[in-house]
Formats: sequence, structure tokens, C-alpha cells
Amino acid sequence: MAKKKGRVFSGARPTGKQHLGNYLGAIKNYVALQDEYEALYCIVDIHALTTIETTQELRQNTYDMALDWLAAGLRPEESIIFVQSHVPQVTELHTYLSMVTQLGKLTDLPTFKEKIRENPKNVNYGLVGYPVLMTADIVLYKAGIVPVGVDQAPHLEFAREIVRSFNYRFNTKVLIEPQMKATTVPKVLGIDGQKKMGKSLDNHIEMAATPEATQKRVLQMVTDPNRKRLSDPGNPDICNVFSLHKIFSSPEEVEEINTECRRAGIGCVDCKKRFAANLNKSLEPFRAKRAEIGQKPDHVWEILHEGANRARKLAEETMVEVREAIQLP
Ligand code: SF4
Repeated sequence: MAKKKGRVFSGARPTGKQHLGNYLGAIKNYVALQDEYEALYCIVDIHALTTIETTQELRQNTYDMALDWLAAGLRPEESIIFVQSHVPQVTELHTYLSMVTQLGKLTDLPTFKEKIRENPKNVNYGLVGYPVLMTADIVLYKAGIVPVGVDQAPHLEFAREIVRSFNYRFNTKVLIEPQMKATTVPKVLGIDGQKKMGKSLDNHIEMAATPEATQKRVLQMVTDPNRKRLSDPGNPDICNVFSLHKIFSSPEEVEEINTECRRAGIGCVDCKKRFAANLNKSLEPFRAKRAEIGQKPDHVWEILHEGANRARKLAEETMVEVREAIQLP
């Protein structure tokens, strides 16, 4: 196996079955990064506890997400795929890092303010400490690289600040300041054509859906809002269906639709049907693999437990150094 360039870490909340936004925004990149880096991909269930109302679906969502990751091409024989809470060292490190993080900085963060706007009835302690736990997630495994979109850059900069505070406070170099690997993530809009695709807004297209359900969802997509009749020329530049055609259809078909739409030579329903067909075709291998892996649910959990075993080993190595640096008795 070729020597890898370094270690990457990325985490995502257990949101269950994944949608196109998850795939294009994260999973596709996860799959590609495995070739170059030693990768740790974590389902961050503890983070999820800060906002979810019930934990009833936590296990199922974790399973569904892991299944989708595996079906999409994550390779457990190389990458470490695991659940955050299966590595308890992360909560220990979170506690130590919280001692070197100023409360005022945490409460000033725009993300914290946004969270309390979204959850005014549940402003819990975990919400404030979220960036500290996120930092613990990364540095526990000495991951030097974190793939993030540019909008996430301030979070990583804050993590680097916490690491510097810890190293300075305890006069050590134990923790590594993670570097950002800027990813060019397309902004995937939901079927409303307005907001980012997401389950909470119910504007998503699920990867594991049947071809029929996928087509039904695609047919609900909002197109160029100025195009009222078939005879009106459309503008693909402001049409979400066209944006996705560019990802899932051939360059020739994209070019044809671009031309035909502008001269009212194709209707939106036909255009969407063609997109749905191309999308379903692209997702065929994923869906087949998902069905195959899904026949043995225990195997998915075994993969997650084996991933946690490997992650715990790395974590404990770091924690031995951390405890030593703090001079815990
Ligand atoms: Fe969008 Fe296609 Fe309709 Fe043009 S024809 S507005 S690209 S859905």
C-alpha cells in the first residue's frame, strides 16, 4: 500500500439515511481522501445529544448512516469508521480542554448564538462546550488534517486556538494544531430550490430511496421561478435541477439541456424526468451494495466496534501523554 500523507479526521452527526447533500458535501470527499490519507470517520453521537429531543432513533440513525457510508465506498479495512461515544477518552480530553478555554469566547461564537436561537428552550451546557468537544475529537487522534468547507474555517481556527492554549498552559507540544484541508463543496439546495438540502427541512432526496420515490421527489423540485409556461424560455443558471444535472448527467446532455431550456425547447417535467433517470442510474451501484451489506446488520456494528477498538488505541496513546503533560497525580 502506498505511504499515506498524514491523518485526517472528520465527524458527522448520526442523521440516519443520507441524502444527496450529505453525499456531495461530505461522503464523496471522504471516499476520495482514503486514497491519500489515513482517515478516521466518526459518527458524533455525543454532539447529537446537544440538540435532539429523544434518543429513540439514535441507534437506528447511527446504523443507517454507517451503512450508507460503507455502501458509498468507505473502506473499513483502511479507514477507521467508528462512533464517538465508543471512545470515552474523548470526554476526558474535552474536560481538560475546557479548562483552557475562556467561557466568554465560547458564548461569543456566532454558532452558539445561532444554536440558542434555534433551541431557545434547551440552552444546555453541552451547546456551549460544543467547539471544545469538537477540538477533542480532532486532536485526540493527532489528526493533522481536517477537511472542511471554507464556511467552517473559523471553527477550525478556534480549535487551533484551544490547542495552543493547552500546549502553552502545560508547557508541552503534545497536541497538534490541525490544518484545514479546504474542500470545494458544492452548495446543494433542497427540492425547494432555496435552502440547503437537509432532513429537518424535508427538502432532501434520499440516496437509498427507490427509483420511483426518487423520481417522485425530483418531480417536486422547484425550477426557474420565472418560467411559468412551456413556451417561456428558461434560465438554467438559476435552476436547481440544472445544477444537479451538471453533476449527474453527461456533458453532452447538460449542453443540450442548457440550449433547449433557453429556447423553450424542453419542458421542466421532461427535464426533471431525465435528471431522475440519470440520478437513479448513478445511484444503482450504491443501492445494490447497500442492499447487500444491509443483509447482515451485525456486520455493520462489528465494523463500527472494530473501528472503535483501533480509535481507542490511538486515543489512549494521546491521553497518556496528555495526563503526563498536565502532571496529573
Ligand atoms: Fe430547469 Fe430544466 Fe426547467 Fe430549464 S428545463 S428551467 S433547466 S428544469
